Amino acid sequence: MRIAVIGGGISGLVAAYRLRQRLGEGADIVVVEQGPRLGGVLHTGELAGEPLDLGAEAFVGRRPEVIELMGELGLDDQLVRPAGKRPLVWAQGVAHPLPGRTLMGIPSDAESLRGLVDEETLERVAAETQRPLAWPPGDDVSVHSLVADRFGAQVVERSVDPLLGGVYAGISASIGVRAALPALADALDGGAPSLTDAVRQAMPAPSTAPVFGGLRDGYGTLIAALTEASAARVVTTLAATRIAAAPRGWVVDPLGLVDAVVLATPAPVTARLLHYVAPEAAAAAGEIELSSSALVALALPRDTVLPDNSGILVASGEPLRAKAFTLSSRKWPHLAERDVALVRASFGRFGDDSLLSWSDDDLVAAAVADLSTVTGIPITPVASAVQRWPGGLPQYAPGHTTRIATLESAIAPLDGLAVAGAYLHGVGVPACVATGTAAADRIAKSLTSRVE
Ligand SMILES: Cc1cc2nc3c(=O)[nH]c(=O)nc-3n(C[C@H](O)[C@H](O)[C@H](O)COP(=O)(O)OP(=O)(O)OC[C@H]3O[C@@H](n4cnc5c(N)ncnc54)[C@H](O)[C@@H]3O)c2cc1C
Repeated sequence: MRIAVIGGGISGLVAAYRLRQRLGEGADIVVVEQGPRLGGVLHTGELAGEPLDLGAEAFVGRRPEVIELMGELGLDDQLVRPAGKRPLVWAQGVAHPLPGRTLMGIPSDAESLRGLVDEETLERVAAETQRPLAWPPGDDVSVHSLVADRFGAQVVERSVDPLLGGVYAGISASIGVRAALPALADALDGGAPSLTDAVRQAMPAPSTAPVFGGLRDGYGTLIAALTEASAARVVTTLAATRIAAAPRGWVVDPLGLVDAVVLATPAPVTARLLHYVAPEAAAAAGEIELSSSALVALALPRDTVLPDNSGILVASGEPLRAKAFTLSSRKWPHLAERDVALVRASFGRFGDDSLLSWSDDDLVAAAVADLSTVTGIPITPVASAVQRWPGGLPQYAPGHTTRIATLESAIAPLDGLAVAGAYLHGVGVPACVATGTAAADRIAKSLTSRVE
């Protein structure tokens, strides 16, 4: 049996590893990756002589997928947790505490926003429960239009956008309620009389369990362990250009005939590859847009007096270039032990790819200047690293869940073909791991039934 996994990001590598588990050592599993290295947007680089993640740096630790995977791969000792400090939000030229009791920045009460928004907005938020809400069950709109209509633009710009910018490199206008906030959509479908009520219903129950986890030496350790455990043949710097149906399998150009194929590529690539074999699925995938970002990691003298917060998010409309800073040495106890203080500055919001053409020097200079502005202290890096992520994150626009349902039902009848990736059921690493596992299960079932 020969199975091709196209795309060597976390989704593809998990699919390859699970296929090995399901099909045994006799299966010929080939991972085809167009870039020079595996991991996709998970990449551990080096700063001041030590490893540092230059893409994703964390995962939602309340979901089981990554922690279970780490356990299976013998990486339990790599699991680290953040220190539990809260971020700040930079708005109107001042650093404020990030509001508590919100759902992705959407408030459940007015008080949490005091100091961040003006009095008029506070009154509007407090009175929102009195205004009738029309939400046809099953509806979907952008987060921006829902929150701006109910609570006003300041809540969007200063509380919601900074958080959505972190997760999707998106803005609330490019992200739909149903895909990004499914529990909120459920509450609205269920007849919540106001947005405030819907948020209260949708907020997760308070828990003392840490929300996030990470890997002590970076995601690179997970990528390396997965690759090894998959025992797959890895072909890098090779792009799959076309797939076509064959009598008992698929032809993948330029690889050749395979029994089954997993497409673990970004949505636009998946759209191109599916064009001739599943036009409806291809059309759905082709509607998904991507957002680009860039990351500047700074190593500062260890005694730099950074705020005692996990990070500083920037409200939209502020005259800064960076959209967020992770104060990594404050956020992660294991990074606080290093000889330097570490900060990651993120750039890029949906619709503005201009930063991709900035030189490394310009990006570092913008990171240093903006960090100095938001902390109020001089910033003198001893080392820096720059990483660009062109098209790194899919946008979950309004209608996303319908689009994905269309895509999945269009490929359901195609025996031996599966898809996985960040554009399907969540951009976070745990969701990607889940799609890789589901794709492997689908292929293994199909191949096993053929043998029987
Ligand atoms: C800057 C940044 C920070 C993030 N931070 C977090 C975080 O802290 N926590 C979290 O949970 N998530 C985070 N994410 C999201 C998460 O990292 C990604 O959603 C996830 O890693 C995507 O994995 P993937 O395998 O689906 O896609 P990718 O990593 O994009 O992998 C797809 C692979 O397919 C390859 N490919 C493309 N075309 C072809 C072709 N024709 N043939 C062969 N190969 C091809 C690509 O080169 C790539 O390697 C972040 C994302 C970014 C960009």
